[in-house]
Amino acid sequence: MLKVDELKLALDADAGIVRAIDGLTLALSRGETFALVGESGCGKSMTALALMRLLPDNGRIEAGRVSIDEGAGELDLLGLPEARMREVRGGRIGMIFQEPSTSLNPVLKVGRQIVEAIEAHTPLRGAAARAKAIEWLRRVGIPEPERRIDDYPFRMSGGQKQRVMIAMTLAAEPDYLIADEPTTALDVTIQAQILDLLRELQAERRLGVLLITHDLGVVRGMASQVALMYAGQIVETAPADEFFAAPKHPYARLLLQALPDAGRRGEPLAAIAGTVPPLWESFRGCRFAPRCDRAMVHCANELPELSEEGPAHRVRCLLYTDRREALPREPVAERARPAAHPGDGPPLLEVRDLQVRFALKQGLLGGAKQWFEAVRGVSFSIRPGRTLALVGESGCGKTTTGKAIVQLLRRQAELRGQVLLDGRQDLLHLQGDELQAARRSVQIIFQDPFASLNPRMRVLEVLEEGLLALRPELDAAARRRTLETLVDQVGLRRDALERWPHEFSGGQRQRIAIARALAVEPRLIVCDEPTSALDVSVQAQILNLLRELQRERGLSFLFITHNIGVVEYLADEVAVMQAGRIVEAGACGAVLGSAREDYTRRLLAAVPRV
Ligand code: SF4
Repeated sequence: MLKVDELKLALDADAGIVRAIDGLTLALSRGETFALVGESGCGKSMTALALMRLLPDNGRIEAGRVSIDEGAGELDLLGLPEARMREVRGGRIGMIFQEPSTSLNPVLKVGRQIVEAIEAHTPLRGAAARAKAIEWLRRVGIPEPERRIDDYPFRMSGGQKQRVMIAMTLAAEPDYLIADEPTTALDVTIQAQILDLLRELQAERRLGVLLITHDLGVVRGMASQVALMYAGQIVETAPADEFFAAPKHPYARLLLQALPDAGRRGEPLAAIAGTVPPLWESFRGCRFAPRCDRAMVHCANELPELSEEGPAHRVRCLLYTDRREALPREPVAERARPAAHPGDGPPLLEVRDLQVRFALKQGLLGGAKQWFEAVRGVSFSIRPGRTLALVGESGCGKTTTGKAIVQLLRRQAELRGQVLLDGRQDLLHLQGDELQAARRSVQIIFQDPFASLNPRMRVLEVLEEGLLALRPELDAAARRRTLETLVDQVGLRRDALERWPHEFSGGQRQRIAIARALAVEPRLIVCDEPTSALDVSVQAQILNLLRELQRERGLSFLFITHNIGVVEYLADEVAVMQAGRIVEAGACGAVLGSAREDYTRRLLAAVPRV
């Protein structure tokens, strides 16, 4: 077993001492997958780094014990000299990270990196080690391993680099594997392949896997035991089946209710208000109390301990102690209200045979010699008040389609076809004032709320920019009134207008981005993966907001995503894209429920579900 007992880890920060892990206990057996889940900032990744003794310079372990089995006894990892720990790292415990590019050395061929791991941790040397490396590359599904072994990492795709990293880690034949968000950066189909591979290797080698992820669908498919972390502590740990069937901690229940799916269509998702508290605070009561929908009077002043609720099932909550007050409130779900805009009538946007191609090489006379065709004749329409989801793997042309519609590619690409607004104005050919006016109607929200706001502009300036350009008729007072109403609508405080983007969390920044899009009163918003960088609970807040805005304003959405749960929850129609073309389209229920195309079926089958 890999055992962690009452581990405490602190980081020195400007704000004070951050208690990133506060009394963590877990046990991972050979052959088992133990999933550590929770929102960003709850201490999951720090736990992984602490087990490997790879803490940042400002971090230190303050108390606790980490051990693995060694012969008939146990090896205390925290007390080991660094030279011995280096053998354990890699040799006994392997680790794979979310981003393979940061773990592979870009100037060394991948084969050399795998051979190094083999020579460091197994008796194989030279040609035998190279033959073993080729065998591992084949095992992890790299085609032509005899040739690819001499490639540099940059010649490989993200999925292939992740496979190389898995090969490199497993080639050292560890007994335990720590996988920190191993598939978060990958497409669903590649993710499914990597997870299958991990399952297979685990069964074959009796690997104990500590899986760290925020994706509950992945946990459902992989884990036998789950531990949910909140603010540096485990708040519930249970066998996976029990955790998903009957979670006990209010935070676990809310997280599962926050997941969008077909069953919740028309209802608001359970959004968990607030954020994880800063860990430099000293806590007098339950850390989850300010966000808990079941909080009782004494929750703010009493520290809950983990209590046994069954074999391997423990919960940190006063509801499961004699401090439980009379029956706690059941959370009240808001009833679905009928949509104000049923979405009948002629299309607001019609895309006809849209083609987008980028010049790769210029010829002698300035003409393009080689083209990359990103979108190859795409057609669809969106009616007022409706949501069309565009789904597919990375690189299939979804984002390019969205950008072409909002006229962001005029300079970089050659566009053909028609993008008709109200059946008459072709956005691809509008110029001057007409284009400006049409831009007001069609706005876009991007995936990364950190990159899409100018850090040198206060929120007021960010939001005002669009108003000044597209609604010049408003004077300063009217602009201010409009912006105040907007921040109210997207659920921010009015003083947010005077603040800077860096002062906000990811979810708040996405609200600012939504407010910026709404400021010019658009009729259609292209939402390009607007929630994929966000935690489940924040995603629920943003989806609720978009749904509410659609109901109130009759907005139409083109929703670009790879998250099928979000599609089921929000979309009226779905179009599935593959290699620049739409391969299947239709009503959401029909496409997702009984897909006709093989590609759609494969895509749906690859999505891990709770
Ligand atoms: Fe909620 Fe109280 Fe339980 Fe904390 S102890 S999770 S506040 S009910």
